[in-house]
Amino acid sequence: MTTANYPSVYLRKGRDEAVRRFHPWIFSGAIERIEGQANEGDPVRLFAHDGTLLGCGFFEGGSIAVRMLSFGTSITDFDAFFVEKIEQAYRLRQALGLIQPAPEAGAHRNNVYRLVHGEGDGVSGLVIDVYGDTAVLQAHSTGVYHHIERIAEAVVKVCKGEVTAVFDKSSATLPDPSIASVGDRFLIGKSTAQPVYENGLQILPDWLRGQKTGFFIDQRDNRRLVGQYASGRRVLNMFCYSGGFSLYALQGGAEEVVSVDSSARALSLVEHNVALNFGDTIAGGRHEGVVADAFEYLKGIAYGAFDLIVLDPPAFAKKRSALKNALNGYRKLNALALERLAPGSFLFTYSCSQAVSPEDFRLAVLTASVQAGRSVRILQQLGQATDHPVSIYHPEGEYLKGLFLYVE
Ligand code: SAH
Repeated sequence: MTTANYPSVYLRKGRDEAVRRFHPWIFSGAIERIEGQANEGDPVRLFAHDGTLLGCGFFEGGSIAVRMLSFGTSITDFDAFFVEKIEQAYRLRQALGLIQPAPEAGAHRNNVYRLVHGEGDGVSGLVIDVYGDTAVLQAHSTGVYHHIERIAEAVVKVCKGEVTAVFDKSSATLPDPSIASVGDRFLIGKSTAQPVYENGLQILPDWLRGQKTGFFIDQRDNRRLVGQYASGRRVLNMFCYSGGFSLYALQGGAEEVVSVDSSARALSLVEHNVALNFGDTIAGGRHEGVVADAFEYLKGIAYGAFDLIVLDPPAFAKKRSALKNALNGYRKLNALALERLAPGSFLFTYSCSQAVSPEDFRLAVLTASVQAGRSVRILQQLGQATDHPVSIYHPEGEYLKGLFLYVE
């Protein structure tokens, strides 16, 4: 199909402002008419009311009706398009020092990184995470999924010799999972999960059965920060998943680290990872793993038992409609921790709900501080790791928010 054959989507008068400022989402309410038959996932050309070409994107048909891929021009060659986007993304990760696979990189050794972060890398609906020699793809849109094999080839081409296997894990992220009728699978090569390196620490990713693509890469910079302030502290890592924060705290000289998650499978990953780095699952008596509900566990701990707590819960608000309940959840959780921390403690608290703004989250933690009656100071405001860039034109991409607090 040449671009002239792409269906043409015309916007209502005055509804072209956001897309002219490079916002990549076209909402269904902004569309006046469509010329030609646009099916979900098809490439379409987008026009302003006066007929000016605004760009090209994938038709999605939902409330986000079109995800833009180019602005001002159309796309003729999708092979070249994906190679170019992935090359740009790879160069940024290189510039950030995140591609350090060789053993001699030592403490800097790093071969786990997010290669493509959706809109932040100019491809709305696509996530690519690299775990050593394996890239894991997740399509969040039908249009992207239609090109998944081409994307896999582009990754291997760009990450020359480094990535040799590409796994598609889109069944959990597609708006309509039935289009992934073949299920999750290797698109190129084959591999089994091997430990990867993050800042010199070893971690076993679990892309087959694990959450997201197998690991929470977005917390890398925050984990390093925890490691920096953990020396001599009694650390509680709540919602630990595979224990990333625990590893950095142990490495940073924590006196004691307790990792808590409601999933027994997560805890077995933590113990595996602790043993990989510190010789045994208890790190010479400094580490303990607990399977428990976070709220129940926090209620049961004594005042002053910990002087560094990490709270990294799953998204409490998956949708805007759930915002009020989510804020209540963050308030309760933070109050439980704030009421129990020893004087002179650090609290690292996060929200990964996209629907919760940094201001909302801060207000929830403020309310928790009032409820706990503690003196609380903000030391730093935190966000997602540098390989999860946010397009300045797409503030919705800033989903991970955190506060580094000092509690007296
Ligand atoms: N901090 C982790 C990522 C956390 S993901 C990291 O850096 O890798 C959220 C985790 O919370 C998941 O592992 C999930 O099993 C766990 N979880 C969800 N609800 C929970 C609850 N009520 N109590 C304890 N853990 C819970």
